[in-house]
Amino acid sequence: MIADNLAAVRLRMAAAASRAGRDPDEVRLVVVSKTQPVEQIALAKAAGVRLFGENRVQEALEKIDALAGQGLHWHFIGHLQKNKVKYIIGRFELIHSVDSVDLAERISALGLERREPTSILIQVNVSGEAAKSGVRPDDLEETLKAAAGLAGVRVEGLMTIPPYDPDPEASRPIFSRLRELAKEFDGVGGGSLKELSMGMSGDFEVAIEEGATLVRVGTAIFGERPGPG
Ligand SMILES: *Cc1c(COP(=O)(O)O)cnc(C)c1O
Repeated sequence: MIADNLAAVRLRMAAAASRAGRDPDEVRLVVVSKTQPVEQIALAKAAGVRLFGENRVQEALEKIDALAGQGLHWHFIGHLQKNKVKYIIGRFELIHSVDSVDLAERISALGLERREPTSILIQVNVSGEAAKSGVRPDDLEETLKAAAGLAGVRVEGLMTIPPYDPDPEASRPIFSRLRELAKEFDGVGGGSLKELSMGMSGDFEVAIEEGATLVRVGTAIFGERPGPG
């Protein structure tokens, strides 16, 4: 089932890219394995997946350790507390969910200790929903300027999570706004904001049409999650 779902998602991704006149190779699929047991991740690996996204520190580290040495790549996509940074530094290729200067400073400090900068995305709360984490669009420039001064992080782009809506078209203005913000503030964070992490199972095609370079897809590949995600 995972292999079939994966093939279907990849086809839909490629179709969305071509509708937008984009090269499908510009869009990477992050398979969101949160709450999925190691056995499911191994099945996804057998189907060809190498890049996984996790949102809880403890759970992620257990899986990374259990699957070590298998050539898998891991991204952190969940809300991150400052006191947990020490556990995840060096374990993830990209942290999608940096939502404050404080957090970026902490990641930078630990990255400097290891003499290796950590790649991060700044999460933007485009919709302004009270319950969502993320930097407000009005604070993005300042956040990026602060991050540019941190030698232990490399800001590679922006991430957003739109408000839940069963209609994928509802996400379109949020995604296009994130793309505009990345264009407006390109270079302000010290480097190019080339990555746009946006789109989940319900709206990844719209996200790709609007410029996503990373889509984070769980349910459409594994089916409904076994636990709270
Ligand atoms: C759970 C989660 C996803 C994947 O959601 P699906 O709807 O299962 O595809 C993507 N991004 C983040 C940040 C998540 O927490």
